[in-house]
Amino acid sequence: MKNFERNLEKYAELAVKVGINLKEKEGLIITGNTDSLPLARLIMKKAYELGAKDVEFQLRDDEMTLIRFKHGKEYIFEEYPQWRIDALEAMYKDNYHHLFILSSDPELLKDIDEELVAKNQKTVSQAMAPVLKYRMTGITKWTIIAMPSIPWAKSVFPDLDEEAAVEKLWEKIFAATRVDQEDPIRAWEVHDKNLKKYKNFLNEKQFEKLIFKGPGTDLEVYLAEDHLWMGGSKESQAGHSYVANIPTEEVFTTPHRLKVNGTLKATKPLSLNGKIIDGFGFTFKDGKVVDFYAEKGYEVLEKLLENDEGAKYLGEVALVQDDSPISNTGILFNETLFDENASVHFALGRAYAYAMRNGSNMTQEELEEKGANFSLIHVDFMVGGPNLDIIAYEKNGNKIQLFKNGNWAI
Ligand code: ZN
Ligand code: ZN
Repeated sequence: MKNFERNLEKYAELAVKVGINLKEKEGLIITGNTDSLPLARLIMKKAYELGAKDVEFQLRDDEMTLIRFKHGKEYIFEEYPQWRIDALEAMYKDNYHHLFILSSDPELLKDIDEELVAKNQKTVSQAMAPVLKYRMTGITKWTIIAMPSIPWAKSVFPDLDEEAAVEKLWEKIFAATRVDQEDPIRAWEVHDKNLKKYKNFLNEKQFEKLIFKGPGTDLEVYLAEDHLWMGGSKESQAGHSYVANIPTEEVFTTPHRLKVNGTLKATKPLSLNGKIIDGFGFTFKDGKVVDFYAEKGYEVLEKLLENDEGAKYLGEVALVQDDSPISNTGILFNETLFDENASVHFALGRAYAYAMRNGSNMTQEELEEKGANFSLIHVDFMVGGPNLDIIAYEKNGNKIQLFKNGNWAI
């Protein structure tokens, strides 16, 4: 592919400088699979050039994941090795930051029993909760970037042969992440400023509720008390900006868990734990999912909602305009990291404490008191598209059209 080597290097640089914003004497953990090694090595090189104290590569392999699911005894999905939690926590405490290279197979677990996948998911989330706090509260900087796997590329471009599909997906990833632009780092500065502009507008207005209208969607969403709109780069406790998802196009906040009413129809499929859910939607009453449907993956969706009580309530509302580098690629990535950033979306499950004023210092009870949802899961699904309108209401009844035909109208 033309310019591939150069783009890969620019991608590595973007991940380390904008994603993690690695500083001298900091450590870096890179999590990836064997395909990610060439990219991981470039990232490692950039990290050491910037003064990293140590770079640790953590292998995650799809085949090994499958071996565990297929051959492990059932009890292993009910407990998680404590040393693994302890090791990660020790690294986070020791100023290591975490870069994930995602290279997913959207249907990896399609032949594995849903019950088992759900049980494993629950066990891992429960075990990881104390460590996740380091990332949620800004102690640990983290970023997720993605690269093609063959199954992923084939799921996006089923008509191409493997090599061509991978090449094409790389091209789309470089476009969606602005890596194909002359100076991606500069492009991200401009983009970040733009997201901050919308974020600041929404935070000044402190809207009371949003109304979403589109095909199959007519939903009233009150926002949590003291909700905070977030978007673009975050700031770590040490005062360094970092970008947790590359790409990111969203500004998002916390809905009131008990004040969501109406119907909501997803506009894109959702790939969850290696399974696809498609043609689905929900009815909400007083915040709770009281009815749902799915043309594909009904059982997977049902299991998701049964994870815990909070899984039936919303924890995030995110605004993304339809005209963005991601949706302009014109493809469905079959990967939430990209598809959620192509589209207005909601999440079922846990709200982000940092999407609440002073939220990182509040207890779970205090957060829930203000309307922020709690759950062990957080799963995004897409509702945006060219036919979505969003009206925002201020407390005094003033209304402002935020989105018209899928794009920002302010
Ligand atoms: Zn989001
Ligand atoms: Zn989310």
